[in-house]
Amino acid sequence: MADKQTAAKAEKLTAVKGMNDILPPESARWEWLEDKVRSLMHRHAYRNIRTPIVEPTALFVRGLGEVTDIVEKEMYSFEDRLNGEQLTLRPESTAGVVRAAAEHNMLYDGGKRLYYMGPMFRHERPQRGRYRQFHQIGAEALGFGGAEVDAELILLADALWKELGLSDVRLELNSLGQPDERRAHRAALIAYLERHTEQLDEDARRRLHSNPLRILDTKNPALQSVVEGAPRLMDFLGAASLAHFDAVRAILDASGVAYRINPRLVRGMDYYNLTVFEFVTAQLGSQGTICGGGRYDYLIEQIGGKPAPAVGWALGVERVLELVAGQGAAIEPPVPDAYAVIPDATALPVAIRTLRALRAAGVSVQMHAGTAEGMGSMKSQFRRADASGARYALVFGADELAQGQVTVKSLRDGSGAQRTHPLDHPQDWATTLQSAA
Ligand code: ATP
Ligand code: MG
Repeated sequence: MADKQTAAKAEKLTAVKGMNDILPPESARWEWLEDKVRSLMHRHAYRNIRTPIVEPTALFVRGLGEVTDIVEKEMYSFEDRLNGEQLTLRPESTAGVVRAAAEHNMLYDGGKRLYYMGPMFRHERPQRGRYRQFHQIGAEALGFGGAEVDAELILLADALWKELGLSDVRLELNSLGQPDERRAHRAALIAYLERHTEQLDEDARRRLHSNPLRILDTKNPALQSVVEGAPRLMDFLGAASLAHFDAVRAILDASGVAYRINPRLVRGMDYYNLTVFEFVTAQLGSQGTICGGGRYDYLIEQIGGKPAPAVGWALGVERVLELVAGQGAAIEPPVPDAYAVIPDATALPVAIRTLRALRAAGVSVQMHAGTAEGMGSMKSQFRRADASGARYALVFGADELAQGQVTVKSLRDGSGAQRTHPLDHPQDWATTLQSAA
C-alpha cells in the first residue's frame, strides 16, 4: 500500500476519452427517464431482459454484418488474456438479446416482448451526442411476424416522446423488402454506382461490391447527391412486402402518428428487412437521430437459433436527455424530507435508531455526519440542513432526548415552526414529514 506521501504525488487518473461520468444532480434526470420507461414498458406488457456487456466477437461480426461501420471500425474487441477468447464490448444490444433468446429457447411457447437499458461501446470520434460509452434503451418483439407489432413498437416510442414532453420529433419510415428483392436492387445499385465511381469516397469504393447498400447510409455530405439519385429499394418490392408496409402505415394513420417515407433510409446494420424507421429531431445538430429500429426476421436464424421473425428499436439515452433538457419537462433534483441535526455524539445511538424507523416508514432522511473531532456546532449543522433542501430538521438535542422526544423544525416555510414528537413510535408521526406526493 502507498503511504500518504506517495499517494499525493500520484498522477491524476481521468475517465477514458469519450466515456462520461454521470453525476448528481444530472443522474436524477437519468432515473426520471428510466422510471418513465419502466412504467410505459409495463403498460405495453414488455418485460425486462439483462444480457452481458461482453459477448463473443463473432456474435457481432455475424449478426451486424462484416462490412458495417460498427464491425469495421467501431468495436472494442480484445482477446481474453487468460483463455484467448475473442471478446467485444457490446456496441448494441439486439444481437445479445437474440443470442439469449436462442440460447434459452425463449420462444418455445410463443413470442416475447422485451426491453433493456444499458451502456454500449463504440470507438467513434467523440462529439456532441456521440460518445464511446453511451447508453441505449431498447425494445424487441421476438417471434412476431405481423405488421401490427411493427406498429406497436413505433407507437410505443411515440408514446414515450409524449410522456417526456418532447414535441420536435419526426418519424421517418422505409421498407427494405426481403432478401430476394434486395438482390435485384443490389444489382441495379452496383450498376448505378459504377457509373459514378469518381464521386465516391474511399469507404464507398471499397464497399461497392461487398455491401453497396451500406453506401446509402454514408455520413459523408459529398456523397449526398449520388445517394439521392440511386435506385430506390421501394421500387423493387413485391406485393407481399408492399402489403406489409401498407399495413404498418394504416395503423399509424389511424392512430394519428405522422411520418415521412424516406426511401434512402437503410440503417447501419445488415440485419434489417421490411420495415425500418428512425425518429429524428432538428434540435441536436448533426446527431439528430434519437431512435432507430426495424424488422430483423433473419437474425435469429443467422446466429444459430430456430428461425423466427422479430422487430425492435433502440434509442440513445444521451441524445434523448439532451432533448429533454432543451424542450421537455422540468425535473426537480431529489431532496430529503428531513435532515437529522445531532448536537452531541452521545445522542447518535437513539437518533440513528429513530432514523431507521422513519426510513422504514418511507421518510427520506439525511443524517448529519461529523468529523473525528465531533458533530460540529448547531450553526454549522443547520447550515448543512438548509443546503440539503430538506423541508424539516429533526433535532436530537439533550433536553428533548431526556423527555423521550425529538424536535421537528420547519426549514422551508419561513415560519421556523417547531413541534415535538415521541421517540418511541416514530412510525406514528412519520407521514407528517413526507411531501404530499
Ligand atoms: P448514427 O447514425 O448517429 O451513428 P446509428 O445508426 O449508428 O446512429 P444505432 O446503432 O441505430 O445508431 O443506435 C440507436 C441510437 O443510439 C441512435 O439513434 C443514437 O441515438 C444512439 N447512438 C448511436 N451511437 C451513439 C454514440 N456513439 N453516442 C451516443 N449515442 C449514440
Ligand atoms: Mg453510428
